[in-house]
Amino acid sequence: MEYILCNCCGSTKLKKIYEKPDEKFFSDEWFNIVECEECHLGFINPRPSEQEISKYYPSDFFNYFREIDHTKRYTEESEYFLDIEKSRQNPKLLDIGCANGDFPRFMKNRGWIVEGVEPSVTSEPIDDFKIYKKKLTDLELKNEYYDAVTAWAVLEHTHNPLEYFNKIGKILANNGRFVFLVTNFESLASKYLFAEDIPRHLYFFTPKTIKRYLESSGMKLVKINFSDKIYMMRSNNWLLFLIKYLSGEKLLYSDIPLSYTKFLQKNNLKDTFIRKLIFSSKNPLFIMDKIFCPFFDKVSILLKRYGIMICVAEKK
Ligand SMILES: [Zn+2]
Repeated sequence: MEYILCNCCGSTKLKKIYEKPDEKFFSDEWFNIVECEECHLGFINPRPSEQEISKYYPSDFFNYFREIDHTKRYTEESEYFLDIEKSRQNPKLLDIGCANGDFPRFMKNRGWIVEGVEPSVTSEPIDDFKIYKKKLTDLELKNEYYDAVTAWAVLEHTHNPLEYFNKIGKILANNGRFVFLVTNFESLASKYLFAEDIPRHLYFFTPKTIKRYLESSGMKLVKINFSDKIYMMRSNNWLLFLIKYLSGEKLLYSDIPLSYTKFLQKNNLKDTFIRKLIFSSKNPLFIMDKIFCPFFDKVSILLKRYGIMICVAEKK
C-alpha cells in the first residue's frame, strides 16, 4: 500500500469521506476514500500500488465484458459523442482500455481507422486491428495524430490520471476529440452511498477537476452529459441517507441493510414470491428506497448531480 498526494493539484490537505471494503472479491479488506480540500478530487488513500493492484482484477472481472451485448451502448457512444466522421475522411480513433476490442471494431465498421490499448493479459486476443498491450503512458505514439481518443470507464482505474490527460493532449490532432466516461464525485451515490467499485476505482472526479485536468494538458471541455444511457449508478439507500442526514448523523457502510439478493445469498435461499413478500414487509424502508430510487436518479440527472458523466473535450 502507498500514500499519495492529490494527483490534480498536488495538495497534501486531505479529508476522509468514508471507508468501505472490497465488496466483490476481498470483503475483509477496507479502504479509505479521501477528498482533496483544495480542488475536491476524491481518491483512495492509502491505496494498492501498481504492483499490488492486479490481485483486485481476477479474470472474473473481465467476464462481464463477454456476457453482455453492448451494441446499443456503442451506438449511443458513437452517435452522440463521436459524430465527426462526416466531416473527416478516414478518421483515426484510439480506444483506451478496449478490453476485447468490441467498441473499436464497431467503429471500424462505421469507416474509422481504429487502434486499441489494452494492457490486461486476461482479455481476448485481437488480430483485426492494431492493438497495444501496454498501458497508454508507456507507449510511443505519434503526436497530433488521432482524430478521436476514447476512454470508457478507464481513468478512474489508473494510478496517475494526470499522465493520461497529458499523453492524450499530445497525441490528439488539432481539434481532435477526447470522449471519456467517469463517475461523478459530486453525486450522492458516489460520495455518500458507497456506490463506487473499491479499490478498482482509485479516483473520483468532479466537473471542476475534469476541467482543470483538461486545461493543464492543452484541451478544453466542450460538454458534460450526465446520463444513465451507457452505465448506471443507482442511488440505492438514498432514503436511509436522508433520514440519517435529517437527524444529524452520518451514514456509515455498516448501516447499509442487506439487499434481498444478498439476503438470499447469505442464507442460501431460493427466490420465491412469498419469501419476497415477507422480506418486503419486514423491510419497508428498504422497499420504499427501491421504489423511489429511479425517480431520485432522474431528478439527479436533471440537477447535474448524477453518478455518471460522459465528457467531451477538444484539443485547443
Ligand atoms: Zn487537489
